[in-house]
Amino acid sequence: GTPTISSADEDIFPSLPPLLHGHPDIHLRNGVMNAARLADANEPDAERAFFVGDLSQVYRQHLRWQACLPGVEPFYAVKCNPDPYVLRLLAALGTGFDCASNQEIAQVLALGVSPSRIIFANPCKAVSFVRNACTRGVDMMTFDNVDELYKVARAHPRAKLVLRILTDDTKSLCQLGIKFGAPLDNVPGLLAKARELELDVIGVSFHVGSGCYDPSVYTDAIRRARQAFDMGAAAGYTFSLLDVGGGFEDALFEQAAAFLTEALAQYFPDADRKGIRVIAEPGRFYVSKAFSLAANIIARRAPLAPSPTAEQEDGPSVMYYINDGVYGAFNCILFDHQVVQPYVLSMGNSFHVSEAEPVGAASVWGPTCDSIDCVCVNTRLPSALRVGDWLGFDNMGAYTSCAASQFNGFEVSKVVYTTGGGAGAAEVRGALARFAKEAHGL
Ligand code: PLP
Repeated sequence: GTPTISSADEDIFPSLPPLLHGHPDIHLRNGVMNAARLADANEPDAERAFFVGDLSQVYRQHLRWQACLPGVEPFYAVKCNPDPYVLRLLAALGTGFDCASNQEIAQVLALGVSPSRIIFANPCKAVSFVRNACTRGVDMMTFDNVDELYKVARAHPRAKLVLRILTDDTKSLCQLGIKFGAPLDNVPGLLAKARELELDVIGVSFHVGSGCYDPSVYTDAIRRARQAFDMGAAAGYTFSLLDVGGGFEDALFEQAAAFLTEALAQYFPDADRKGIRVIAEPGRFYVSKAFSLAANIIARRAPLAPSPTAEQEDGPSVMYYINDGVYGAFNCILFDHQVVQPYVLSMGNSFHVSEAEPVGAASVWGPTCDSIDCVCVNTRLPSALRVGDWLGFDNMGAYTSCAASQFNGFEVSKVVYTTGGGAGAAEVRGALARFAKEAHGL
């Protein structure tokens, strides 16, 4: 059937794109139909790629977090997707925020969030950034080296420092240990230096790596954190904060939560955990599934006469070119080690693709003039797919547009927002309205 255009809550945040209602699939289709209308009207860039962001999905992830890890406070990792609606929703839901830079801190504070709800979780900061954190009242910050301690002593002597330790990151897509985290051997020396500089170290953090595919690593990480806590006590500190970092994968979340819960019970048993606040820095978990991308097939290169043998030797002979690529949203392929799967969103002006439709091997490319700009090396797509048709990509909310460039003059794809069509839509609307009223008096 023909999707209906949904009404919008344009009054909640007049400065932001309208907030629509209805299932994300409806908005993907509406966007495609709208593009056809713009093309008819000769609008430039009529067929531009676009995201659909479903805020009810973010809300449902938050419920999942609270159900599985009720004792662990999420500090959303802003770097993962600093989307203005996502940040407002999470602020309304009461999460904290993990910021990595002045800009991220400014963005979160501008929402009216208290600086006490921010952790500056970048162990290697510019001294001017440390000074700025001091001015803005952001006290919690991580470190993993001696130079950082000297910097903090100079620029923010009241800081509440969190020592980031090294843990096993070999079970993650994006390993961080090569760059960050103090080995346990270094901890006593670092704490001695912090004492000498009269700095307040309040606890320990770690990050098992982003995109962790073996959540059993949290057990060993918590064991190491326990050792670091004991070293803290030996150095005369009473640690009160344990930050278990990010790395939470959607499909493995319940498993990760079970490993964490068990390890916390073992290494930080209840009696001992009193007075210890446990926080985490989830990024991907909150936003990955909430955003889908629709991209238009702007060009195709196919052999004049198909040759099955050539295809076997050289890979797919049909090449589709779409209007977002690895210099844009699909930078997640290069930077975040993602493998993306296209599906046909519309073909020949129809949203329904028959199961019986013949398919063939194809590659999918971005719009720039660089050959590294490949979205799918080898996938299977309907042989009848042509220029003007649309491909959809799900799970595009994490580490995508936040790292996109405008290389070759291609704009970063914009977002169409919806509160979703099912569970959570009313709660999202309520939370955002509350936020608008309380924080900004709108
Ligand atoms: N915290 C820190 C310090 C990070 O570097 C990252 C990601 O790189 C995150 C949190 C978020 O990780 P994830 O998206 O895997 O949850």
